[in-house]
Amino acid sequence: MQDELIHRQGGSPIPDRIRGLADLSYNLWWSWHPEARVLFKQVNPHAWRESIHNPVKMLRDIPDQFLDRVVGNPEYLRRYDIIMDRFSRYMENHNGWFSETHPSSRTLTIAYFSAEYGLHHSLPFYAGGLGFLAGDHLKECSDLGVPLVAVGFMYSQGYLHQRILPDGWQDNIREFLDREAAPVRRVTDSAGRQLLLDVPGITPSIKVAVWRVDVGKVPLYLLDTDIPENTPQARAISSRLYTGDKEQRLVQEIVLGIGGRKVLSELGIDFSAVHLNEGHPSFALLERTREFIEDGLSFPDALARVRGTSVFTTHTPVAAGHDVFPAPLIDKYFSGYYPALGIDRDTFLDLGRNPGDPAGMFNMAAFALKFTAYHNAVSLNHGIVSRRMWHHLWPDLVPEQVPIDVITNGVHLPTWMNQRMEGLFSKYIGPVYPHWQQEHDNPSLWEMIDEIPDKELWSLHLWLKAKLFNRIRERKRQRWASHLKEPLNLVADGLMLNPTVLTIGFARRFSSYKRADLIFHDPDRLKRIVTNRWLPVQIIFAGKAHPDDTEGKQILQRIYRYALTPEFAGRIAFVEDYGEQTAQYLVHGVDVWLNNPLPPMEACGTSGMKAALNGVLNCSIRDGWWLEGYNGKNGWAFGGEEWSPERDAMDAAELYTLLEKEIIPLYYNTSLDGIPHGWVKMMKESIRSIAPVFSSRRMIKEYVRRYYPSLLKCAETGFETCPV
Ligand SMILES: *Cc1c(COP(=O)(O)O)cnc(C)c1O
Repeated sequence: MQDELIHRQGGSPIPDRIRGLADLSYNLWWSWHPEARVLFKQVNPHAWRESIHNPVKMLRDIPDQFLDRVVGNPEYLRRYDIIMDRFSRYMENHNGWFSETHPSSRTLTIAYFSAEYGLHHSLPFYAGGLGFLAGDHLKECSDLGVPLVAVGFMYSQGYLHQRILPDGWQDNIREFLDREAAPVRRVTDSAGRQLLLDVPGITPSIKVAVWRVDVGKVPLYLLDTDIPENTPQARAISSRLYTGDKEQRLVQEIVLGIGGRKVLSELGIDFSAVHLNEGHPSFALLERTREFIEDGLSFPDALARVRGTSVFTTHTPVAAGHDVFPAPLIDKYFSGYYPALGIDRDTFLDLGRNPGDPAGMFNMAAFALKFTAYHNAVSLNHGIVSRRMWHHLWPDLVPEQVPIDVITNGVHLPTWMNQRMEGLFSKYIGPVYPHWQQEHDNPSLWEMIDEIPDKELWSLHLWLKAKLFNRIRERKRQRWASHLKEPLNLVADGLMLNPTVLTIGFARRFSSYKRADLIFHDPDRLKRIVTNRWLPVQIIFAGKAHPDDTEGKQILQRIYRYALTPEFAGRIAFVEDYGEQTAQYLVHGVDVWLNNPLPPMEACGTSGMKAALNGVLNCSIRDGWWLEGYNGKNGWAFGGEEWSPERDAMDAAELYTLLEKEIIPLYYNTSLDGIPHGWVKMMKESIRSIAPVFSSRRMIKEYVRRYYPSLLKCAETGFETCPV
């Protein structure tokens, strides 16, 4: 990797005394350690804000005088030394939870493959929940010392930015990632040039450049085809997420799986096991099988080794959600592979056959299930749905016995819990559990939440709410100043939001199954609810529709038009360009987090967990994680009955009744001290019951306990102990 990383605008290097800032800026460790972020912010708060909290960009752009100023400030240097010391101790500490519990597995590594990663908004390599799950997985493995190396794509055009036109139609803006101003580094060869390699088996050849993101102790290698050495078609492969036709999608998955495998061997990274996040990277297992055959194994023996050392996590609750490819396309790219594996075409195609699919397409999830001995769904209900969906792969078993396990998703607490909220817990839980952050998956420490005075929790909540509203207004002010908005649009964009009003948040991708407009099913009833003179309600929406999803864009426009009408009195707002940063503000600052997808389409859902960590109450349909998370007193559950043509009407009616009879009265039932004690009690119950269980700490420990040792043992014993 390159040493002098930051090409500073003025040309002068970062002063030696604080040179460590450069190193630190390239390790996302800063993103989940507020004290490290403060170190950057203190160089110059305006520059920090202007860089959109991206230290690499800030250090590149900032004039020398500000760096010189902090070098002359003893208090800054004292803090700098403390944080840098903390950082290097974190990086050197290989005696984390994992090595304590698995002392013999010290030399083994797991390779984690995913098509997207949601780590920080400065790295736009995600579309939604799947990506954030992967990002949180890496951060937590780093915190726990689980030996992991990750592979993904460098999406040079990231995901789209969203602008809402005056009539409510979504406009998509492509933004090119400035790789030199992002926390990514080139991976170089021995001659100091960026590592460049060919993806095997594709003609004309595709070259892949390699980048590295450091996620604490976990390195993430990113594959980049958007380089001058490639044809325009080849450049497009890694430039955007989930676009293009079937063939491009197949080539993408070949690059990710087979190219990704090759990158690891080129870098000399030896891994013992593979974890696939969804089916997109499954070809990595094919390449591993081929290598074992090259070493002299038969196909069945090679397959057994690969299966015994691989785990597949599926996130899709419907058959149509999996990637499938027609046989002629598979022939086009894999006919050279058949002989290399020592099998014929039919046997190969069988590996991706889903007996439930009459069209006989090559199914990436079916392939992944056949190539892994361990597979899991991401919530209890998703497990039931998946076992039913994949039953025909195990025709001799009853659906309940289909070997698809469950590990329910969780979120990375230091990433998603507001820093002041953490401070409040340290103040009241800290005296008894001084290391509560290290053991936050221990439910008993959360019992101490009752120690927090209602008044303190409530004022912090109001502060977070004000912070959210300020941010929305400030963004609108900037848009207004750039002449990009009609005056009326500012109402729909949230200018009228009032922090004393009960506020519902709805923010997620605008796929039709998420039913963003469900609450408008009976517009008159909703109007009466939100414009109630004494007990008003406001709703903040955010989310992007996929650029090809016309239906999603129409749903969005429908909501935006309601937001524009005076009958809704400025109580409906739509916040543009939902991403990691906006999500942080929303999950910290609204009162209620609404979720109403069409069951069973929500495999798990994670944004509600993020909200819960911050005392925001979930009001959700009975689906995904909420079937496990809801305990009758930590929020509200509705709907979720069997399918019926009246379903939207029924679900909406139940939601209105909940709002009218329970949620609104509880919120406005304040005591003479101005605090709604009943509401605060529910906030505490929500944090207490959800934080320890739906954390990625609990999740990673489950992966480790259930799978990783068996995978590693299989590899460690020369494949003697692999499952059959
Ligand atoms: C957590 C998160 C998601 C996933 O949330 P769901 O509830 O699963 O839809 C999507 N986008 C962003 C920006 C997130 O932070």
